Amino acid sequence: MSTIVAKFGGTSAADASQLLKIRDIVRKDPGRRFIVVSAPGKRFKEDIKVTDLLLRCYEAAEKGESFDADFGLIQARFQEIIRDLGLSLSLDDDFAALKERLAADPQREYVVSRGEYFNARILAELLGYTFVDPEWCICFDEYGKLDAQLTRRTLGAALKPLNNAVIAGFYGADMSGCVRTFSRGGSDVTGALVAAAINADLYENWTDVSGLLAADPRIVDDPEPVKYISYRELRTLSYMGASVLHTDAVMPVSDQGIPINIRNTNEPDDPGTTIVRKLPRGEMKIPIVGVAGRPGMSVLQIEKLMVSDESGFTAIILDMLKSRQLPFEQCLTGIDTVTLIIRSDILEPFKEDLFAEIRERLHPDYFGLKENLSMIAVVGEKGTEVSDANVRVLQALIRAGISISTINQGAGKLNLLIGVSEDKYQEAIRAIYDTIDELQE
Ligand code: ASP
Repeated sequence: MSTIVAKFGGTSAADASQLLKIRDIVRKDPGRRFIVVSAPGKRFKEDIKVTDLLLRCYEAAEKGESFDADFGLIQARFQEIIRDLGLSLSLDDDFAALKERLAADPQREYVVSRGEYFNARILAELLGYTFVDPEWCICFDEYGKLDAQLTRRTLGAALKPLNNAVIAGFYGADMSGCVRTFSRGGSDVTGALVAAAINADLYENWTDVSGLLAADPRIVDDPEPVKYISYRELRTLSYMGASVLHTDAVMPVSDQGIPINIRNTNEPDDPGTTIVRKLPRGEMKIPIVGVAGRPGMSVLQIEKLMVSDESGFTAIILDMLKSRQLPFEQCLTGIDTVTLIIRSDILEPFKEDLFAEIRERLHPDYFGLKENLSMIAVVGEKGTEVSDANVRVLQALIRAGISISTINQGAGKLNLLIGVSEDKYQEAIRAIYDTIDELQE
């Protein structure tokens, strides 16, 4: 029997009816032995996540203001879940302890972690699984950074003797016993750490969508779900804005080649997206898995005749960025020209003095700034490697009358990055998506 770690996100665990769906999913496969759960998320659009309510309690407590109203909402929400599930569990003592701590010594990370703690206690009771408090086995250092090696050992040792368990997501503790949390959405990371620690066969990540879509559904009507994607392709798509998993959730499992399957708690029969190192046998690799992008970019173009014959010109430019701790998205070098693509919001405060230094130190023949650009990534290891997919993508843009400002395809051949003006961004995504669709037929 394979061992599966199943992580359920906030909307999947928002109320009693959702927790019952989790129970059905878990019971359907005896391999689902280790379950990670988030705090209850939104039940409807205007609802407030429990983590946000806890944050509000902390902020009020810290200012010495009353937090009773929000605290009451949280307590009522968990009581309702317990009652609707017909459980005999009581969290009254835990709530009393939390209230006391909020009043006496409010600590942000401890307070916001309680949503996961309470929900995991409830889910463990519902499933008849052992509750595991990550306070004892997910280890952070004194700066609040995960200690991955120690966590792997401690978590592995804690889970090994157990047949099954529910582990609260999102937090752990440092060496002095203070609760520490990951950044928001961090239960995904907990799930990945659990999967790595027990060397699971599969990490399932249950959410409210049936996997990753090949394009942003706010731009493209009804985009196709992606069946398989590599860890590297996922990383690129996520970087460019397609959000499906916490970015830190990929490395712990990709290192060990554990596949991640994104599934929908509300449509449990949908296969979702599987993130793998290598495609399973018999599966045909599609040339382009998806397209994503980011508006709000600026392009700096610096030209100087004969500069290609010298070394160090680009290094000086990059040094200027480094001394300002100014990150760049891309640096393209041509013959006697260097093009830098930088996020406009980050560049803004540095514009004046950076431009002055470039002019002073480099005496360029031409120096230009183009703003309001968007960057589009066409992602697919196979597409950019062997097929004519790139050509078809560029042709589609030309046919749609969209001019291309920059093109970047490194030797890594993971993606093709295209710069187009912001007002053509959505049109370009749609034109590229249609090409992807054709390539799959
Ligand atoms: N509850 C936390 C959040 O809302 C962590 C998580 O859901 O993964 O960010």
